[in-house]
Amino acid sequence: VQVVRFNQSFSISFHQQIEYMFEINENYLQLNESYLFSTIAKRIEKFSASHPEADIIRLGIGDVTLPLPPSVLQAMHNAVDEMGVKETFRGYGPEQGYAFLREKISEVDFRQRGIDISPGEIFVGDGSKSDTGNIGDILGEGNVVAITNPVYPVYLDTNIMRLGKSSQIVLLPCGEENGFLPEIPSHHLDVIYLCYPNNPTGTVMNREQLKQWVDYALENRSLILFDAAYEAFIRDNEIPRSIYEIEGAAACAIEFRSFSKNAGFTGLRCSYTVVPKVLTARSAEGSNISLNGLWNRRQSTKFNGTPYIVQKAAEAVYSPEGQQEVREMVSYYMRNAEMIREGLTEKGWTFFGGKDSPYIWLKCPGGMDSWTFFDRLLQECHIVGTPGVGFGSKGEGYFRLTAFNSHERTAEAVRRIKQWEY
Ligand code: PLP
Repeated sequence: VQVVRFNQSFSISFHQQIEYMFEINENYLQLNESYLFSTIAKRIEKFSASHPEADIIRLGIGDVTLPLPPSVLQAMHNAVDEMGVKETFRGYGPEQGYAFLREKISEVDFRQRGIDISPGEIFVGDGSKSDTGNIGDILGEGNVVAITNPVYPVYLDTNIMRLGKSSQIVLLPCGEENGFLPEIPSHHLDVIYLCYPNNPTGTVMNREQLKQWVDYALENRSLILFDAAYEAFIRDNEIPRSIYEIEGAAACAIEFRSFSKNAGFTGLRCSYTVVPKVLTARSAEGSNISLNGLWNRRQSTKFNGTPYIVQKAAEAVYSPEGQQEVREMVSYYMRNAEMIREGLTEKGWTFFGGKDSPYIWLKCPGGMDSWTFFDRLLQECHIVGTPGVGFGSKGEGYFRLTAFNSHERTAEAVRRIKQWEY
C-alpha cells in the first residue's frame, strides 16, 4: 500500500467530498433501508397533511403514555439535589450499576420469588434495546443464531450488522399453525433469541413450553437470550415471568429486563441483564470461560454506567409504594388491552395476545395484507397501528395494536372500529 503524503498545503472546501480509502462495515448495506416506524411516520405525515382535521389515534408504537409514578419522581428529585452538593455529588459510577440497585433487583425480582440470582449476576444498563443489541459483542461469529419470525427487529438487525445476511441466521417461523410459538428444531442451534410475552404477537410461553427450550439448550449446549421486557404484564400465575423459574436455565440463558414498559422509563432509560455465574462457554483453546466475566469486560470497556439519578429512580420502583404504583400503571394499560379484546371480539375479528401482554395481534379482516389494512385503518378510521409484515414475513396479513394509549382514546378507537364498514 502506497502511503500518500501531501507536501503542499491540502485545500478542500467544507462540503467537498473526497474518495476515501478505508472500508466500511458492508453488512450495514444489507439492512432494510428504512426502519419500520419511520416508514409509518411518513405515511401518517402524508395523510395528516392532506387531512389536517383528522383526529388520529395512535395504537402503533410501543411507547408508554402515563407519566412517571410519584415515588420514582421523588427519588429522582432527591438524587438531583444530591448531585448539587459537594459531599453527595457522584461522578463516574460502577459500570455494572450501583450496589443499591443490583441488591434490590436481586432481592425483589428474584430471591423473593425463590430464584437465586445474586447482585453480581446483574448488570444495570440503559435499555434493553442496547443490551439485546450489544450482547453479540461477546459471541463468536461462527454461531448459528436462531430468531423468530415475526420478531422485535433489533435481534435480527444487530445480527445482520455482525454477520451479514448469512445462512447462519436461522428464522423460526411462528404462525397461527403453531400458536405463534417457535417449534423445537431437530437440528443444532447455537444461540436462540426468545421473547415472552412476545412483541409483536402478544403470545406467552407456559412453563412446559419454556422448559422444552431450556432442555433443548442444555442438551445442545446452546445459549438462550431471553427478553423479558414485558414480564410485568403477565397476569396468569402459571406463566413464568423469568426463564430462571425453569430448572437448569441459569446454565444456558441470559435474561434481559427493562424498566421501560412497567415503570414508564422509555425516556429515562434503565434496564438490566442477568448473566448467571454458572453460565460458561468453551474457548477455542478448550478452557471454560464465564460469560459473566466477558459481559463485565464488555460493559466496563464500552459503557460508563446508567446515570446515578436514573438508577435512584429505578431503585424507587422496588419500594412498597413504587411496587403499588407500577402495578396500577400496568393494570391501567391492561384495561385498555381488555377493551380492545372486547371490541374485536364483538366485531368478530380474529386476534391473539392482549391477555398477558400489552400487544394485540390482529388477523387482518377479509384477507387484507398488512399495509393495505394499515392504510385503510388510517384513512377510514384515523387509527394507526403497526403492520405485522414489518416484523418479518410471517407477520404478513397481521397487524399489531398496543394498549399504551389512554382509556379515552382506546375506547374511541374501539368505537370507530366497531362502526367501520370495511
Ligand atoms: N425488547 C423488546 C421485545 C421490546 O419490545 C422493546 C421495546 O419496545 C425493548 C426490548 C427495548 O426496550 P428499552 O426501552 O428497554 O430499550
